[in-house]
Amino acid sequence: MAAAAELERLRMAGAGMAIAVLTSGGDAQGMNAAVRAVTRMGIYVGAKVFLIYEGYEGLVEGGDNIKQANWLSVSNIIQLGGTVIGSARCKAFTTRAGRLRAARNLVEHGITNLCVIGGDGSLTGADIFRSEWGGLLEELVRDGQISEEVARENCRLNIVGLVGSIDNDFCGTDMTIGTDSALHRIMEVIDAITTTAQSHQRTFVLEVMGRHCGYLALVSGLASGADWLFIPESPPEDGWEDLMCERLGETRSRGSRLNIIIIAEGAIDRSGKPISSNYVKDLVVQRLGFDTRVTVLGHVQRGGTPSAFDRVLSSKMGMEAVMALLEATPDTPACVVSLSGNQSVRLPLMECVQVTKDVQKAMDEKRFEEAIQLRGRSFENNWNIYKLLAHQKPAQEKSPFSLAILNVGAPAAGMNAAVRSAVRIGICQGHTVYVVSDGFEGLSKGQIREVGWHDVAGWLGRGGSMLGTKRTLPKTCMEKIVENVRKFNIQGLLVIGGFEAYEGVLQLVEARGQYEELCIIMCVIPATISNNVPGTDFSLGSDTAVNAAMESCDRIKQSASGTKRRVFIVETMGGYCGYLSTVTGIAVGADAAYVYEDPFTIHDLKANVEHLTDKMKTDIQRGLVLRNEKCHEHYTTEFLYNLYSSEGKGIFDCRINVLGHLQQGGAPTPFDRNYGTKLGVKAVLWMSEKLQEVYRKGRVFANSGDSACVIGLRKKVVAFSPVTELKKVTDFEHRLPQEQWWLNLRLMLKMLANYQISLTEYISGKMEHVTRRTLSIEKGF
Ligand code: ADP
Repeated sequence: MAAAAELERLRMAGAGMAIAVLTSGGDAQGMNAAVRAVTRMGIYVGAKVFLIYEGYEGLVEGGDNIKQANWLSVSNIIQLGGTVIGSARCKAFTTRAGRLRAARNLVEHGITNLCVIGGDGSLTGADIFRSEWGGLLEELVRDGQISEEVARENCRLNIVGLVGSIDNDFCGTDMTIGTDSALHRIMEVIDAITTTAQSHQRTFVLEVMGRHCGYLALVSGLASGADWLFIPESPPEDGWEDLMCERLGETRSRGSRLNIIIIAEGAIDRSGKPISSNYVKDLVVQRLGFDTRVTVLGHVQRGGTPSAFDRVLSSKMGMEAVMALLEATPDTPACVVSLSGNQSVRLPLMECVQVTKDVQKAMDEKRFEEAIQLRGRSFENNWNIYKLLAHQKPAQEKSPFSLAILNVGAPAAGMNAAVRSAVRIGICQGHTVYVVSDGFEGLSKGQIREVGWHDVAGWLGRGGSMLGTKRTLPKTCMEKIVENVRKFNIQGLLVIGGFEAYEGVLQLVEARGQYEELCIIMCVIPATISNNVPGTDFSLGSDTAVNAAMESCDRIKQSASGTKRRVFIVETMGGYCGYLSTVTGIAVGADAAYVYEDPFTIHDLKANVEHLTDKMKTDIQRGLVLRNEKCHEHYTTEFLYNLYSSEGKGIFDCRINVLGHLQQGGAPTPFDRNYGTKLGVKAVLWMSEKLQEVYRKGRVFANSGDSACVIGLRKKVVAFSPVTELKKVTDFEHRLPQEQWWLNLRLMLKMLANYQISLTEYISGKMEHVTRRTLSIEKGF
């Protein structure tokens, strides 16, 4: 009873409130998911929600541009690019007279809560509007447009902002809405151009968006292994023309058939003069005589369907925006909902805008190092890794160390990116680098070969595992593995793979007492579509898998658009881990996602079936239910199909889809390329450091716990966790970490699908204070 009362209280927390949402400025993929989440969360807590069409233009004009929304007004929009409620640039809103009209329109509907989704311009406008609100209402009273009583009732305007911008140019959030999708578009183009350019031995110069911010250029440069990069935050040193041509010539002479140069549209030189893509092209043609083409990407980057990341990010931010409005007091400043690691947080809007402006000021005043720092740690880190990979030459002197790299388990997107960067950084450090085919089995059979810099060229964008991978665990072939470790004098072992990679390294560590040869440095880079390796929030390949599953579900949903009343039961992979099912479910707006970690009974199944039966009475006569492959021993996919078919007889029909290996995806997503590249670099740098530490009298001897670690992203930082420590927090029977951060996303999935859930467990982001430090130093990884 108490729980029911609490549920009721929370569901009514927004009673009497009116919330309006608008999208403004440049459109960005993912805005629709944000509008959907704000609307549904608003309705969920009992508030009235209004959609304002055409951004501030609609707010100023009023009339039909402001419409009350219901649950179904935002159905079936999560997968659409752009913004279905329209966006505009509005001159009138930049004037007080325009804002006066806007205030009158809001008051007319009793709206005192406004959620603005847009860039820093739009959010600045919103803040000005809020600060003037009292004065605007007084003026309306003076003019006789509203009564004093109405003014009193609407005396406070709460503002919350969500940053929609494909440039990721806003300080205070790890990612803005639309950036990841824009990177997807850029990578698709790069992949397409690469094949033709390679055939003809061409150089291509690709210009991407980013008038003031080089984020898109930087990340696409890293994810495509670009030879040279121009970003506004770090203009090249004077004399760069010679350096660049020398570098391009070198890579060609090493056998490369293709050069990639990426340039942000706002690229400048040290004196602030723009560097154009045509200038760069002419330079390459004149100096090197290479066949060179320019591609300017433009609006393609804003186009297409939003990526899974953007849909989930926007949903999370939209929900949090409503929480922020619910909890706003007269003293809370206008806030912006931002992403910190995998958490939503709230930051004072104007302080973020200020730091964003400071970056521009630093660039204008040619304080470039500071500009990079102000962009945040993630940006700086990306920049340093790009420089390491693109600008460092193989070491002249050999180190005494040899590393071996292998893939274990099922193939996962991003494995090849990790191998490539690990090989190259290893070579830069002077190590002898071996690669092993077919995992631990290959190691036992001596399928080991030394590789050079060029052997891994072009691996970044390839899906699957170029090395070949197997699931065999070391304990089945320990003696032979030890023999080869001795024979090849391997002192560092980098294992890239899923749960078996972790389990395998653990077995090697546990065999150290028996075999001294195994007292070497070991590192696991988690790579599996299941995302079930302990020691990391994300494993390589899971982003690609979620996107692949999401695309399939989008198509499945669309296939029913001509058919009425159909429910799809879709089975996803993941072993016992429900990550893939849950995140895909949020990204496609599923009605339910059954997973092992969130136990369900016949009562839940009954509620789900009834829920769908009710839904069929509305205009949305389609349902999508996800089921993780091992979520329940008895309630199998077949069982669910039979249950839904039988209970839905005469109301809806049912179809099954088992996604299977489709979920491995084709080419890795930009995130997995970039993540793989970074983990490869960081893992080898860590191994080198550890090797130095344990190298005495010409040999390596490592037997402490921290000499065999899983590298992973935890919250915002790259962490190295000893496998022996992780063993204590692993459920080996189900191959799962005992704690998984994403479980609180389950509430979001259920709320957005219109289930009665309790929000007491919902972790909302508290308002944080912005300091330059929180913004610039701790951002990203
Ligand atoms: P973005 O939000 O993407 O940065 P703009 O800077 O073009 O895009 O802003 C979008 C709209 O927000 C503008 O057309 C204007 O209506 C409003 N806006 C921007 N800056 C201000 C401001 N300083 N005061 C009032 N309104 C503003």
